[in-house]
Amino acid sequence: MLNKLILVINCGSSSLKFSVINPIKKKILLSGLAENFYDNSSLIVWNFNKKKNKIKFNNKITHKFILNYLVDEILKKYLLLYNNIIGVGHRIVHGGEKFTNSILITDIVLKAIEKASVFAPLHNPIQVIGIKEIKKILPHLKSKQIAVFDTAFHQTIPIESYLYALPIKFYEKYKIRRYGAHGTSHKYVTKKAAKFLNIKLNNFNCISCHLGNGSSITAINNGKSVDTSMGLTPLEGLVMGTRCGNIDPAIIFYMFNELNLSIDKIYNILTKKSGMLGLTNITSDFRYIEENYFKNNNIKIATDVFVHSLTKYIASYSILMQNKIHAIIFTGGIGENSILIREKTIKKLKILNFFIDKKLNNKIKYGKIGLISTNLSRPILVIPTNEELMISQDTFKIIHNMK
Ligand code: ADP
Repeated sequence: MLNKLILVINCGSSSLKFSVINPIKKKILLSGLAENFYDNSSLIVWNFNKKKNKIKFNNKITHKFILNYLVDEILKKYLLLYNNIIGVGHRIVHGGEKFTNSILITDIVLKAIEKASVFAPLHNPIQVIGIKEIKKILPHLKSKQIAVFDTAFHQTIPIESYLYALPIKFYEKYKIRRYGAHGTSHKYVTKKAAKFLNIKLNNFNCISCHLGNGSSITAINNGKSVDTSMGLTPLEGLVMGTRCGNIDPAIIFYMFNELNLSIDKIYNILTKKSGMLGLTNITSDFRYIEENYFKNNNIKIATDVFVHSLTKYIASYSILMQNKIHAIIFTGGIGENSILIREKTIKKLKILNFFIDKKLNNKIKYGKIGLISTNLSRPILVIPTNEELMISQDTFKIIHNMK
């Protein structure tokens, strides 16, 4: 059953992830990553048939170069895969207000993705390059490319949760509003959780915590996103690995006016030097943080700030949904693996009838799916996310319906 494979492309700002997936069998046949594009340590690694391959490049590489390498040096060597790819799914970070679902990439769609670049300047332009390059190097698939947007799942959030209290023209004229992110992941784990708990998706209410280097939390009512923590860009919301999340915007003016920091420098501080890295002054890696929570006071304080911010969101989303939530979901590298963060957060939510089962919590990590709550608790689930699988399934569905 090989003849229905999807190539999934995820162009990051200085990396490119790729995979070839059988969306029906839910099987990842090949997966890989090229990274460190703009320094001299660039490399590509990929897994196929349980074998790991790694090639280092001695020069700076580009997304175009890697896409050509992927087709000529990898896919064409595994002809059984290459000949069975029927479509290409692209992860697109920002779809603006236009896209509420995944869509076939036409010239008009491509223009709209380019236009949304103002909100994701590090990602959308590169993703456009990816789409254009695939057109050239896989011409037989040029009209079988699908865009899957990180923002699409959040297009159901109501106006009171997406509007900022700025003069209204900034929304009406410039479309400054909350768009959210990680939509593909929140949608995927919500579906999985509803299935796990045997509740129909359109009756299912939950709070989904995607905790990774970038973290976001989403309130889901009747299977639809009704509020989310990331905003116009993925800088707002929870405390993250290196991003500050919510801060008083006046801090920026203080840094600019009183500390004479340039706008570029401030942007760099808020996105790359803040969050857990900034607070600990050591690392944003939760493996290290978890190991050193009781040994290092800065790490303890940073973790407590992280948990405080997460708890506040869970509590407020719970109230927004009239406390009618069926479950809390943890996903992303931290959500799937950090026993400490899950335990510390849930311990603060007793009043909402969430109780952690320590034994179960200790067991569930490294890709395992399962409950970590006691019998007395409402369900708390750990669900490994799989954005690539979701992209391949959306791509397959659209291509299948084109016939
Ligand atoms: P991204 O947002 O880049 O996709 P991930 O979802 O891969 O990030 O999550 C990365 C985070 O997950 C890092 O902070 C990492 O330390 C954390 N993480 C990964 N494995 C573990 C683990 N076993 N225990 C605790 N944290 C982990």
